[in-house]
Amino acid sequence: MADLLVLEAIRKAYNVGTPVEIEVLHGIDLTMRSGEFVALMGPSGSGKSTLLNIIGLLDRPTSGRLSIAGEDTTHLSEASLTSLRGHTIGFVFQYHYLISAFTAHENVMMPMLVDKGRPDSAMEKRADELLDSVELGRWRDNRAMNMSGGQQQRVAIARALVMNPSLVLADEPTGNLDTVSADGVFELMRRFNKERGTTFLIVTHNHDLADRCDRIIEVVDGRITRDSPNPASKAPAARPQTSATG
Ligand code: ADP
Ligand code: MG
Repeated sequence: MADLLVLEAIRKAYNVGTPVEIEVLHGIDLTMRSGEFVALMGPSGSGKSTLLNIIGLLDRPTSGRLSIAGEDTTHLSEASLTSLRGHTIGFVFQYHYLISAFTAHENVMMPMLVDKGRPDSAMEKRADELLDSVELGRWRDNRAMNMSGGQQQRVAIARALVMNPSLVLADEPTGNLDTVSADGVFELMRRFNKERGTTFLIVTHNHDLADRCDRIIEVVDGRITRDSPNPASKAPAARPQTSATG
């Protein structure tokens, strides 16, 4: 099975308004295969969000190489990056970033509207199917502002998946949720991973949740200090990599 994501010697420095650049990623090497469900852990300020933003093509590395789905992104134009991002990557953040005055259905429609310009019946249907699959079909016409934190995050997951991305990047997606809601949101991501083979990279501080991932990567001070299969994974990967042809 092909590598979905390859990072080679990724460095990132921020220029903080002084002549001094501060490097926060010091050479990250990372490969992820299609269908993996991976936890990204590490202390606050260690560079996890910076790394996710680079992988998600929201920010460019200072140096190093990033390939997604076989495409080297290093020299792509902004327009090409935007297109690749829109069709390949879904985002879930700690804060949901839904449009609060819009309904659940309208929020899920949004990435398709951005892509295609205007709604059609296929989009409407796809948004409805996703809302059903996150068990919010009955909440379709409720405004985001009137939903609970857990429900809002499930709408955000439906929105992240609506373009059928290969890779979903989730930055502390359960950080604002109570334990039960966090559990539900995490299980939902796991289910999409198993049923559709969607690859997930999830930043979490929660060891119980990380224990349900197939692989745990830890970043400390801008370096990967651990990258190991998770022997405790309570949910093995859906598609075992048994053949070279798969
Ligand atoms: P984490 O997500 O692991 O908490 P971040 O990637 O957000 O870590 O931040 C890593 C380091 O980079 C921190 O020291 C942070 O202050 C710094 N940093 C993050 N974003 C910026 C920015 N836009 N400009 C300058 N420094 C930044
Ligand atoms: Mg962060």
